[in-house]
Order: sequence, then structure tokens, then C-alpha cells
Amino acid sequence: MKHTTRRRPATDPDLAPPAPAAARHRGSYDRPLARLADLTAAAAAEVLALVMPVDCVCCGAEDAALCGVCSRRLRLLTLRPFRAELQAPALVDVDGSALLPVVAAGAYRAELAQCLLSFKSHGQSRLAGELAQALARAVHAAAGQAQGVALVPVPTSSAAFRKRGFSPVHLLLRRLLRAGSIPGFTVADALRKTVPPARSRVPLTGVRDQPGGQKGLSRGARSRRVRGSMRARAGPWSPSVAGRPCIIIDDVLTTGATVAEAARALRAAGALVTGAVAVAATRPPAPSDGQAVSPAVAGPGGGEQKNKPEKDE
Ligand SMILES: [Zn+2]
Repeated sequence: MKHTTRRRPATDPDLAPPAPAAARHRGSYDRPLARLADLTAAAAAEVLALVMPVDCVCCGAEDAALCGVCSRRLRLLTLRPFRAELQAPALVDVDGSALLPVVAAGAYRAELAQCLLSFKSHGQSRLAGELAQALARAVHAAAGQAQGVALVPVPTSSAAFRKRGFSPVHLLLRRLLRAGSIPGFTVADALRKTVPPARSRVPLTGVRDQPGGQKGLSRGARSRRVRGSMRARAGPWSPSVAGRPCIIIDDVLTTGATVAEAARALRAAGALVTGAVAVAATRPPAPSDGQAVSPAVAGPGGGEQKNKPEKDE
């Protein structure tokens, strides 16, 4: 596989001003200042898109960040969202029941893995469009008929944000709002990272430079590392999640420790966490597994899972 993406400056190329016609069905963004930041970055991104040559991030074909063939493969990989929580050890209780239902758009492999990696590094607009549509399919599958659900993105660490210049999950959600792909949903940027207690920090030696970062950590190490690392935002510009049904949005589901921590922080703020959605899951269920046919986590008969405490191990 040829990797031909070129490193770009830390701007967000996905932030073009919205088309006037898209406004009618747009969802809402709970933090109005974010829209201002979108518009400020848009001009620079437009110029960059004109001068930066791009090749397909999957096969290296020239002239497009994702060629037509790889784009079709990506769509096939994300056509049928599936339930992935029972393959995420941090989300499984000692009795084998799931602590939180999670719907993934696709398995973390082939074109989906390659596109996610490249998008998280460089934020290509073409990839954002394709990945956002995959995310939208999973969100709709997860929400079922549920109304008034707030989508809460998992927060990016400030170190990751400084390195990339954008938050991949926030960018995908903004794109879906602009395109009118998630009518009826609200995006609530309700979580922020905190500095965890020193005793729970786990050194990242040998892990930091791997593709995907935390994917190299063991389940226990990752759980300890993220526990207590998030809390609900508080302040005049912060969305309130108390009493609201929420679905957590993340990019890649691995052990589930990040999603479990987000659920803990949201529930501590009074939110009704009905489930989570990831663009990709590193451990998809076997094709014969029954959970693959019932992805809804917040529709009729779904609703909030029992309010069990999140496991540390
Ligand atoms: Zn290609």
C-alpha cells in the first residue's frame, strides 16, 4: 500500500462556508463560537486545496485524496452499521452484559482504517465527506426513532489538538450539521479533558509513535489512563446535558475505555446516556453474531442502560 499524502499545515480544510440551501434542514450547534472559528479557517483552507497536490490515500492514484474505486470500497465497508460493545472489554460487565451499547459504522480495516488514519493526520476534505456519511449512517442506526438526542463528541486532548490543529470527531459532526445529514439531532460539545490524578497516569513509552496512538495500550492500562480524564463543561457557553438523552460520538472504538469514561462524566452531569457511536471498531463481531442485526441503541425499547458503575478493569 502506497502512502502518498503530504503533510499539510495545521489548518482545517473542511471548513467552507455553508451553502445557502443547506440551512433549512440543518441541526444546531450548541457552541456558537465554534461557527466563527469555522469561518475564519475556511479562507486559508480553500487556498491550500488549490495548491496542494493529492493522491488517493489508499491506493496512491493521482488527483484525488480518495479515488472512485477506494471510495466505493469505503462505502461498502460502512453500509451496515453494527453493534460492537461486546467486543470492547471495558464495556463488558463481569456477568458478560454490556455497560453501554455502541454502534460502529464499520470495521477498522482496509480502506476505512486507511482513510481514518490519514484524515486524523491531515484532515482532507474529501475524506471528511466520506467518513461523515459513514458516521451519519451509524448515528441514524443507533438513534432509531428516538427524538431530541444530543450527540456529544469525545473531547480531544489539548496535545492532540495542538499537533493536528483540529479535532477529527468535531469536524465530522460539523460537516454533518452543515450538510443537513442529521436533522433533529443537536451536537452538544459538552465534555472536556481534565488532568487525571498522577497515580492513574500510565507512561506511553513505545506507544505514542504507533499509528492510532492508544491502540497499543492494554485494556487495563488504557482504562487506568482515561479514568477521571473527562468532565462535563460548565460555563455560560457550555451546553447543559442534564436530563437530556445523549449519544457519545468517537472515531475508533478499541477497548471502550474512552467511551466508558465519557459516559461516566456525562452521567455525573445528569445526562441520560443511551449509547455511543464510533466510525470504526477494531474488534467487529463475527458475521453470525446476532447483535450485528440490531444496531439501535436509543430507539423504542432501547433507552438508557442500567446505571451500572463503569469498571476500571
Ligand atoms: Zn484509491
